[in-house]
Amino acid sequence: MNLGSPLTALKGVGEKREKLYQKLGITNIGELLEHYPRGYLDLTGTLAIKDASDEHPCAVKAVVTQKSPTRPIRKGLTVSKVRATDMERDLLITFFNAKYTVDALEIGKEYIFYGDFTRRMTGGEMSSPIVIAPGESGFLPQYPLTEGLSSKMVSAQMKTALEECGHLVKETINDAVLKKYGLCSKAEAIRSIHFPACSEDLEMAKKRLIFEEFLAFTLGMNLTKGKTRTAEGNAFSPVSIEDFTSSLGFELTGAQKRVIAECEKDMCSPVPMSRLIQGDVGSGKTAVAASCMYFAAKNGFQSAMMAPTEVLASQHKATLERMFAPFGIKVGLLTGSMKASEKAEVKAAIKSGEITIVTGTHALIQEDVEFDNLGLIITDEQHRFGVRQRSALGRKGKAPHTVVMSATPIPRTLAFVLYGDLDVSVLDEMPKNRIPVKTYLVGPELSQRALGFVRNFAKEGKQSYIVCPLVERNEDSLPLEAAADFAEQIAGQELVDCNVGLLHGRMKPAEKERVMQAFAENRLQVLVSTTVIEVGVDVPNAVCMVIENAERFGLSQLHQLRGRVGRGKEQSYCILISGKNSPETKRRLEVIAKTTDGFRVAEEDLKLRGPGDFFGYRQSGLPMLKMADMMTDITLLEEAKKAAAEILSDDPKLDKPENAALAADIRKLLEEAAV
Ligand code: ADP
Ligand code: MG
Repeated sequence: MNLGSPLTALKGVGEKREKLYQKLGITNIGELLEHYPRGYLDLTGTLAIKDASDEHPCAVKAVVTQKSPTRPIRKGLTVSKVRATDMERDLLITFFNAKYTVDALEIGKEYIFYGDFTRRMTGGEMSSPIVIAPGESGFLPQYPLTEGLSSKMVSAQMKTALEECGHLVKETINDAVLKKYGLCSKAEAIRSIHFPACSEDLEMAKKRLIFEEFLAFTLGMNLTKGKTRTAEGNAFSPVSIEDFTSSLGFELTGAQKRVIAECEKDMCSPVPMSRLIQGDVGSGKTAVAASCMYFAAKNGFQSAMMAPTEVLASQHKATLERMFAPFGIKVGLLTGSMKASEKAEVKAAIKSGEITIVTGTHALIQEDVEFDNLGLIITDEQHRFGVRQRSALGRKGKAPHTVVMSATPIPRTLAFVLYGDLDVSVLDEMPKNRIPVKTYLVGPELSQRALGFVRNFAKEGKQSYIVCPLVERNEDSLPLEAAADFAEQIAGQELVDCNVGLLHGRMKPAEKERVMQAFAENRLQVLVSTTVIEVGVDVPNAVCMVIENAERFGLSQLHQLRGRVGRGKEQSYCILISGKNSPETKRRLEVIAKTTDGFRVAEEDLKLRGPGDFFGYRQSGLPMLKMADMMTDITLLEEAKKAAAEILSDDPKLDKPENAALAADIRKLLEEAAV
């Protein structure tokens, strides 16, 4: 048996199972070995019920004492209740649509139950935990599956494959790089990624495999696109921007200062800056952008800042105007919906250099916008733009410096990193005065109370958002009306004494802007909105966010929405209203309620949805990266890029024997990606 052998060479794999594996794209032993787990059940710390935590999933050991009959609660949904004990405390377990699992449980026998745990007076409760026979221990790999395959089967076959062929796995990274970056061998990594002996092993394996993927991608991109950074740019002179930063009205965070310094350094080089600034909502990206633009202005260059929506663009305009007015720097706005005459006026001022800083939407990249001397382009919330659009603006000046700002950690970001050969800066620190938003998850019966809450805030002069997903009227199942009806209704009833505004996607841009402006100036206390407020809007006086039908949003989207409040010095609140809930939905929403850290939210999103969904790479033309949690591995990406540069400087075409295996992998990758 070798890596090229068909799967049927393995015990337990016949033609039928071979077909199932084919569905996962696995046709031989080598490919099976690279079918990595999407997660693990950690049984290393099996707990007594009294020690179980409701913070994260746990493995609880208990003896089944009682099973109530499985019964239907509505069409397509059955529920079964099981009681278990560890002789000290009791565990009440609810299973949904799991008759088979429940039937298989034997009364009087001990099992490990793995999942989220909720503490109760006499013990605890679990909902649809995974049931594990008590003999198992360590980390149980959980694989991406297809119907008919279970992780148990895959893991049994993986064991055999490793025993027979594990030693045949080829090393792809040359010794010097392995040593320099402290990486384990590929064979070792493959073994440990499936069956780690301890968490250190697992970390080692992940690090190695992620590094390899980053390395292959970076090299691949370099080889196909050639050097992207050969263009001549404008090297700015180091100037102090202290006068500007000290006028902001707050002390920059350490992270902001660091990132600004990184950008300044880049801008002083003749190689144009190409940098991604990644920071969670509220981390203060705008101040960083403004500082960079000031730096450019002091060097005598214009800056352009692109935003994904008109609302955002005009908000940026207002913010920047406020910041730059004391320095006599003129800020302009250019959006698609402006009158032709207004546009012409702004364009003329951009061309003459009278406007130093211009913000806008994609109108900015239209062919006929000419700059006097564009030195810096900043793109906010980059993921809304295509790469092509970005480069179109890039052609406007003489190789201007570019910055992309994003609140979405990865993986979209990662795609840009790879596409665009960007350097990465991370704003990993929140402004000090921030008080974490308090988040509550409630049923629709409390919807009225939430509105009462909003009304009280309005009385105190504070503002609120109410977000409801725009639902077509003819959609039968949901009682929620379209946002417009809803706004009208509450404006007439519950919130009759407040000024209520409405913002939705189908409004004309100018209308949207009027409403947004009114809200920003506190002429409206309540803004009823669809998701158009999702990105970027900054109104520090808004302290309450009510989200109707919260289950309709993805986790990261909810996090972005919540990021609209908690921007000032006041305690802010986010109330998620959600009715009919499957256990999965409830779990999802509870994640948001429990954490305010964007990286954790994204991580949980990934866990719950599985990496397949999360990395939409096939569509973007990048082959799927296999390792799931690389989103937290920005540092590793940086190291891999460094290693790639080192390898290429020594072996520009990758034709030295020690890089042959890597070169072969990259060729395969590029073929798959059809770049
Ligand atoms: P985002 O990163 O989501 O774009 P913003 O740039 O809109 O965040 O900043 C959010 C809010 O925090 C703004 O009101 C801004 O004025 C404020 N802010 C930014 N940096 C700081 C800081 N260092 N200290 C206090 N407040 C800050
Ligand atoms: Mg922003």
